[in-house]
Amino acid sequence: MRVSVDNQVCEAHGQCNTVDPDLFTLDDDGYSDIGVGKEVPPGKEVAAEQGVDVCPVQALRLE
Ligand code: SF4
Repeated sequence: MRVSVDNQVCEAHGQCNTVDPDLFTLDDDGYSDIGVGKEVPPGKEVAAEQGVDVCPVQALRLE
């Protein structure tokens, strides 16, 4: 499983980081810095799905 952010869409709301700060890292301005195709570590699949679901602007996606 991989997770990606669309940096054109992310508005630095930070909810993804609240779900799992290790998986959904942010830059100094509060924008997601996970990039494209970040590998979801074993055991983090549920957190990945929850983080994607809470993003208010649908900037995250799973593959
Ligand atoms: S919740 Fe969405 S808008 Fe907020 S930092 Fe994460 S990806 Fe960006």
